[in-house]
Amino acid sequence: MLKILVCVKQCPDVDQMRMDPETGSLVRAGVPSILNPQDANAVSAALKVKETYGAEITLITMGPPSAEAVLRECLAVGADKAVLVTDRAFGNADTLATSYSILSAANTQDKYDMIFCGKESLDGATGQMGAQLAQRFNTTQVTSTLLIKEVDQEAGTVIVDRELEDGVETLEAKLPCLFTMEKTNYPARIPNLKGKLAAKKATITTITSNDIPGLDRNRIGDPGSPTKVPRMFPPVLPEPGVIIDEGSVEASVAKLLAIIKE
Ligand code: FAD
Repeated sequence: MLKILVCVKQCPDVDQMRMDPETGSLVRAGVPSILNPQDANAVSAALKVKETYGAEITLITMGPPSAEAVLRECLAVGADKAVLVTDRAFGNADTLATSYSILSAANTQDKYDMIFCGKESLDGATGQMGAQLAQRFNTTQVTSTLLIKEVDQEAGTVIVDRELEDGVETLEAKLPCLFTMEKTNYPARIPNLKGKLAAKKATITTITSNDIPGLDRNRIGDPGSPTKVPRMFPPVLPEPGVIIDEGSVEASVAKLLAIIKE
């Protein structure tokens, strides 16, 4: 049976976030946390593979204990297992440390044929995790995946469509493979009551840094994070433009010339 890992992240709902103009820090108080919307698409893609070929879906998230909520949300729509990677030692991690921590935690669980990620997160939005995880798990990778068209378990290959700026590319990739998902063909699933109740009771595997044999503590959390953020500030927006429409080309040109002269 195919083993699938789906990486999901709990994010603050950035639509409701603002920046303190004095300190430059983000004001998180009172801002709800949500499942990264693109990760709902990744879960949906994994579920489609499960429904077509049979598969076991494991979810993984690294975050604070409250991130359990997004795991239960994804269990409710049909994922099978969930792993919460949580520990103060993982805190202050940049993408490099996060991908190493996720790899190390996932390796304590199983080996995976397919790994699904969202294309980017709502808050960090670096879009680096997919590529870093593919490198760390030593898998092939398909970014901007539109559609998983066929999985050939015997041949160990997958045929996919991926989005390009000016078209669609069809590729064959070797398994194991990591996909970063576009949302087009995989809308978020809505849980039913049975799913919600089962998810509420489901056991979630919690992994701390002490549960990972051989974990290199210099590669997690703050010590493992070479990225530093010296300052954050809201961008200075350019002045809004003016549309000149005087009713005719001649009149509009005359107005424009008058403005330029002035
Ligand atoms: P992207 O690369 O944009 O996400 C792509 C996909 O990767 C997602 O759709 C999802 O499938 C997967 N993914 C991303 N993050 C996770 C995750 N955590 N678990 C499972 N799957 C995931 N964040 C904190 O929460 N606390 C901190 O203290 C903190 N300190 C930071 C310090 C620095 C200097 C920097 C640069 C970042 C810090 N971050 C912190 C942010 C954290 O590093 C990123 O959120 C994380 O590494 C993922 O990067 P991203 O959000 O850009 O994900």
